[in-house]
Amino acid sequence: MGKTYATAGRERLRIAIQKSGRLSDPARALLAGCGLAWRESRDRLFCHGESLPIDLLLVRDDDIPGLIADGACDLGIVGRNVLLEHAGVRALQGQAAAYREWRALGVGSCRLVLALPEAIQWHAPAQLQGLRIATSYPALLGQWLREQDVAAEIVTLSGSVEIAPRLGQADAVCDLVSSGATLAANQLRPVETLLQSEAVLAGPVAGFGDAREDLSMLLLRRLDGVLRLKDSKLLLFRASRRAVPSLLELLPDAEAPVITGIDGSDALALQAICHGAVTWQRLEDLKRAGASGLLVLPVERMLA
Ligand code: ATP
Ligand code: ZN
Repeated sequence: MGKTYATAGRERLRIAIQKSGRLSDPARALLAGCGLAWRESRDRLFCHGESLPIDLLLVRDDDIPGLIADGACDLGIVGRNVLLEHAGVRALQGQAAAYREWRALGVGSCRLVLALPEAIQWHAPAQLQGLRIATSYPALLGQWLREQDVAAEIVTLSGSVEIAPRLGQADAVCDLVSSGATLAANQLRPVETLLQSEAVLAGPVAGFGDAREDLSMLLLRRLDGVLRLKDSKLLLFRASRRAVPSLLELLPDAEAPVITGIDGSDALALQAICHGAVTWQRLEDLKRAGASGLLVLPVERMLA
């Protein structure tokens, strides 16, 4: 008998992530940072949570919003672009929102842009009237065109959108970019940003009302710790009491600095978690302002 994954029960939480693609490694890394560990099924579609009752389903990113909407998965890690496009399609069909963005994850950043052939001068959206625009995001593009009060023809393509103008399929494109190199290689220039996107944790609009509620809150608390600690460092140093105010001015990103007196001396010991980059330049500035014995340490975990 074929194995089914349909009967997870409501004691386990199921998270859909991309099986292979830009978001699969970052999604796994974030969840592993939350203390999750898994045993992968032989068909590589399902990962059974070993450290916590939180399982993963490995799927195409486009399927993730629908899986949450159907209740086949509880949470998902997916690009905001995919989530909002799916929600836009649902809205056009008169269906209510079935999920919402729970957290922005700070990975997979990109923009959904309108791009024109370089030879065309850009003035305003009105010049799109009557043109054909190729995209994989027809709902998001349609919404934007309505907001601009422009009637253009949307040519929906599932891939290779950027070559559509050269193939004569469209006059412009609406596509995702990060560096812009792909557009430039196809003699296209971004002229409008329709959406700033990144990977997000998506979940139901309301909570779960069963054991999954506590599990999802536990995961969120850990995830918030992981997200706050990204690029954070613990900074330790000594300084005289009178140098402290100007030193703290050099540390605007320091969270709740702890200052301790050292017995029998004017020196103080300071420790602070810095959320910005602690570069050599910053250390040299601190030293000039009176700090000594500077130590920068990585931070593994934080529970506020
Ligand atoms: P799948 O096989 O799962 O359908 P895909 O080819 O649709 O994969 P990827 O190319 O792996 O998807 O992109 C996944 C997500 O990564 C995008 O939806 C987007 O949110 C994000 N992303 C970040 N930078 C870019 C980029 N330059 N181009 C496309 N997507 C990007
Ligand atoms: Zn996809």
